[in-house]
Amino acid sequence: MRMGNHIRIVCWADCGGMGAELIALEGLAARLEEHLTMSLEIVPYAFCDSSVPAQKFAALNHKPRHIINDMMQRDFEAGTFRCQTCGVDHDLPSRGVDLYVCGFPCGPWSARGKQLRFGDADGDKCWQAIKSIKHMTPCLFALENVIRLDSKSDGNTETDLDQIVRAMTDELGDLYTIVTLDGLDPSRAGYPVRRKRILVLGARTDQVSASGLHSSAGALLDNSMPVLLNYRQLLGLATNDTSPWNKLWELPGADDKRSLIVSRCTCSIDPFTTCEVHPCKCSNTCKQNPTSTTCAWRSLHREYITSTLCTDVFSYDDLIAEYSSKLTYVALIELNGLRGLHSCRERNLLNILSLTPKMWPIATTPNLVDKSQGIYRGGIRHDGAMGTLASNSFMWSFPDARLLSTSEIATLMGHDTSSTQVADITEAEFRKMLGLSLHVGVAGMVVAVLLASLGHEP
Ligand SMILES: [Zn+2]
Ligand SMILES: [Zn+2]
Ligand SMILES: [Zn+2]
Repeated sequence: MRMGNHIRIVCWADCGGMGAELIALEGLAARLEEHLTMSLEIVPYAFCDSSVPAQKFAALNHKPRHIINDMMQRDFEAGTFRCQTCGVDHDLPSRGVDLYVCGFPCGPWSARGKQLRFGDADGDKCWQAIKSIKHMTPCLFALENVIRLDSKSDGNTETDLDQIVRAMTDELGDLYTIVTLDGLDPSRAGYPVRRKRILVLGARTDQVSASGLHSSAGALLDNSMPVLLNYRQLLGLATNDTSPWNKLWELPGADDKRSLIVSRCTCSIDPFTTCEVHPCKCSNTCKQNPTSTTCAWRSLHREYITSTLCTDVFSYDDLIAEYSSKLTYVALIELNGLRGLHSCRERNLLNILSLTPKMWPIATTPNLVDKSQGIYRGGIRHDGAMGTLASNSFMWSFPDARLLSTSEIATLMGHDTSSTQVADITEAEFRKMLGLSLHVGVAGMVVAVLLASLGHEP
């Protein structure tokens, strides 16, 4: 690969997910063309992911030459890889790949210290990535993983990340400059999204000087883009004037009281009330006995109320007595034609959170809560950012009184939903992919650093 007016970049992706780096490269190519009249030609050579929806997504949106199902099916001695779409073994290139990206599974690192013989099948993918880099000698590479990797397990002086980087340095240190970017967050690319990742970047020393990669990475870290928009502004959500928020936590008027009686819903601020319309189904005990209040979440919610809303002179019992007869968040939105969440736990969660001072004023504070997370699990944000997305996340926007749609979440994850092809990928599959995916903004920062490093010839 040589820098010039026309750059052709051959890409190989393992554990490719949604191919965030390819999407980011397309975006970068458009900007380079527009501002510098440079042309960047992206050649997705091989794309590997064991998930069928990810393979479909790649075929529709990236059109790689080879779609691979299992990255473990490679014979480094014979120099071949199994291609499931072509149904044959192809030659594994030892030259010609410019960019290698692998978002290896963040799974267990149980069999420590064994390095290239990690017992866990998912852990093995990390070493398979290193072996693949060693064989293919791409000009640039990026390995991505979750932040948890950078923690020590009991009795270990090194973190898992330390071990991986040390193994990589042992295996690849002669050929590559390696830089670790710890805690790279989409907010650095201006997105109102929190999702920290660890990126290990490498540039081949015969193509890029060591200082080139270090200074490009340093420039990125020193020049974060400011986050100018919160999630509601980014999605263009208008202020919801359907709900008369001034009635929240006031005594209901006669009409509202009547409607509440007709609805038979008794969900309230009190986690220990049961509701015949919304019976708890969190466990078999609950399902068999709808008036049981032994569910674990109820005690957690009581603790939360006590620690965040009560004081020495205003006890838990005082609070329940004070607010039980008042109009809750869920009741208010439902009285005004919107729909609250269905489960007993989630309704109580919304009600409790809507009473916390940080949420006010409800109409304009960009509060986003992941309903799939427990009340203490950190899925609650008040700063206008979307918290870490998991494959089962559903984000409730308080001022909008609804869940964000899959398409809105895709937008926050950096996708241009007007051009994304999904064909017969189901919404659940798409959401799951988004939950596992590298943020396109983070991928953009990574490819920009790697390409910029090329300007520094050795
Ligand atoms: Zn093939
Ligand atoms: Zn209810
Ligand atoms: Zn329950």
